[in-house]
Amino acid sequence: MDCLFCKIIAGEIPSTKVYEDDMVYAFNDINPVAPVHILIIPKKHISSAAEISSENSAVISHIFEVAAKLAKEKELDNGFRIVTNCGEDAGQSVHHLHFHLIGGRFLGLKMVEE
Ligand code: 5GP
Ligand code: ZN
Repeated sequence: MDCLFCKIIAGEIPSTKVYEDDMVYAFNDINPVAPVHILIIPKKHISSAAEISSENSAVISHIFEVAAKLAKEKELDNGFRIVTNCGEDAGQSVHHLHFHLIGGRFLGLKMVEE
């Protein structure tokens, strides 16, 4: 499958690994928007949040456990944001489900552009 993040998991494209276990891989975003900007992804390919179902959702709770652990490790005690963009209107640019863990500065009060 021609998927950028599957290639990153396979080690075919280099990345800065932050965490890995049998279900998930986490690495620094190549274009960070804040001092901490980590992408947490399931190892098994899921295209987007629209494809989450009872068949594959166990990894989602695990991703949020990993996010909480990484937020503690990165000392994001003042807060952080977890974002997943799904589809064209949300600007999803890589079609392998990923959760952005962003923090380390004030992130603003607006959730979206007006
Ligand atoms: P999206 O726009 O789909 O929500 O997020 C995709 C994210 O992947 C972007 O923040 C972008 O900077 C990041 N990204 C794209 N290509 C690469 C890459 O080759 N390596 C890494 N580490 N991040 C990437
Ligand atoms: Zn993939």
